[in-house]
Amino acid sequence: MSITGIIVSSGIAFGKALHLNHSETHLDYRPIALSRIPEQQRQFDKALQNLQQQLSLSQANLAPESENYQLIEADLLLLEDEDLSEQIKDAIGTLQLSASVAVERIFAHQANELEALDDPYLANRAQDVRCLGHRLVSAIQGHLQQSLENLNEPTILLAQDLTPAEFALLPKEQISGIVLKTGGLTSHTAILARSAGIPALLSCQFDAQIIPNGTPLVLDALTGQLHIDPNSEQQNALNHTLEQERARRVALQAFREVETQTQDGHPIKLLANVGNLNDITHVSEAGADGIGLFRTEFMLMHTSTLPDEKAQYNLYCEALHALGGKTFTIRTLDIGADKELPCLSQEPEDNPALGLRGLRYTLANPELFKTQLRAILRAANHGPIRLMFPMVNQVEELDEVFKLIGECKDALEDEEKGYGELSYGIVVETPAAVLNLSAMLPKLDFVSIGTNDLTQYAMAADRTNPKLTRDYPSLSPAILQLIKMTISQCQGFGVKVSLCGELGSAPHTVPLLLGMGLDELSVNLNALLEVKATICQGQMASFKALAEKALKLDRISALQQCITSYKS
Ligand code: PEP
Ligand code: MG
Repeated sequence: MSITGIIVSSGIAFGKALHLNHSETHLDYRPIALSRIPEQQRQFDKALQNLQQQLSLSQANLAPESENYQLIEADLLLLEDEDLSEQIKDAIGTLQLSASVAVERIFAHQANELEALDDPYLANRAQDVRCLGHRLVSAIQGHLQQSLENLNEPTILLAQDLTPAEFALLPKEQISGIVLKTGGLTSHTAILARSAGIPALLSCQFDAQIIPNGTPLVLDALTGQLHIDPNSEQQNALNHTLEQERARRVALQAFREVETQTQDGHPIKLLANVGNLNDITHVSEAGADGIGLFRTEFMLMHTSTLPDEKAQYNLYCEALHALGGKTFTIRTLDIGADKELPCLSQEPEDNPALGLRGLRYTLANPELFKTQLRAILRAANHGPIRLMFPMVNQVEELDEVFKLIGECKDALEDEEKGYGELSYGIVVETPAAVLNLSAMLPKLDFVSIGTNDLTQYAMAADRTNPKLTRDYPSLSPAILQLIKMTISQCQGFGVKVSLCGELGSAPHTVPLLLGMGLDELSVNLNALLEVKATICQGQMASFKALAEKALKLDRISALQQCITSYKS
């Protein structure tokens, strides 16, 4: 049997099923019969013991200084708290609550109390307490969630949803594939899965009941199918496809050392999108000319505390060292929308994608912003850095940023700390930014087009909503016009223009985008060699002819056809 989903990270994966957040269980809030009280109290004790055992086992495999070790330690301490256990058993006995409802209620109360303390660390801990409560409820209901730290065979994760922060904590070596019920093509979890090279299907409506944990699965993220317990014939066919895919990837390695230029001698700067230091150290060997987008907020996804100026400075210096003079483009923190960070207490918003995100968030939190700016300015003393700002709409925001940068420089001078000069750019990701570009260009050294958000805001379609695949097309005449307008304005001002949205990582759209006049392309690390091969095997003259044709089309279908029928 097989089910379909939307491919967001291509490849083929074999592995055993593992459900994450088995929390689709419904709680029964009706009072239990008096006769069931002792049985429910025993069930609670047993689940508590099982969970403690499981956590201790997980902890034994971790280094004591690791963050996961510390998190498990905090969870264990809470589970050992006798007062808490007594409160839960008391609630079962006196309020006639089932063990699950009592745990849910007492843990929620505990979390609310932490949040009310007005201490950012404890407020973050509140979320961990809620998670631990859910895990205990699952254990009471007989679904002790398998601990992810101890996976010892290739595993395909199945979940309703997975936030970028949850993704960051996964033991990637054992996760061969990811299948989610929700998610969109350019959601940040999809981008992370793609750059980690983990095949993933989103919007896949699997039924948890018919895929118990441990079921053999094959995820075919080339055709968009999840095969449940495939027979040997199917397995052989998929194995064969996997071998072909591997051979194709090996053949692409030939492009690693090659300069990125078209057959008719037109050089293109090909950069990588990265989210952590590990990716940065692999940029040169991956065949990139540097980094065109460092999503710095990703480095905050797995920490419960905010790195201070020194920690950030050290990281940027290490990155400069690893890059050895290659382009290094840092994007300031793009917090908000689908990027919730465990180390910050963000106020809930009704429309987070239209709320306090990107530059709006950092301007509203100047201390946080200045810490990052100071770290970057100081690191620039050791090598060239391009700095760009996300979600800029109007020139007034740039005025504010440059004022803050001026203040940071003054303070660093007073403190006799060295700093270097930066190049400045913005990510163009709203229609307003395109329309206000001429006012901003005199202040900028470069521009990068962020098509993931530009599409979201131009089409008024949530990029994370799988129901909107038709409303959030990866390429449409409207987006093409916005890209063209941006490129033309940049060319008029002599400002270099790049594109860092996922659109640039789709090899079949690359000829069109380059034909429109981009100077650079910044792509998902995992797509880099494929994009490079497309550039190196093509002619700029044909890219231009393709762009000229495509810009005249007014239907998505015609555009798709035009791109697919392109031959260099
Ligand atoms: C974009 O919006 O295209 C972009 C590159 O930024 P992010 O995907 O991180 O929002
Ligand atoms: Mg964006």
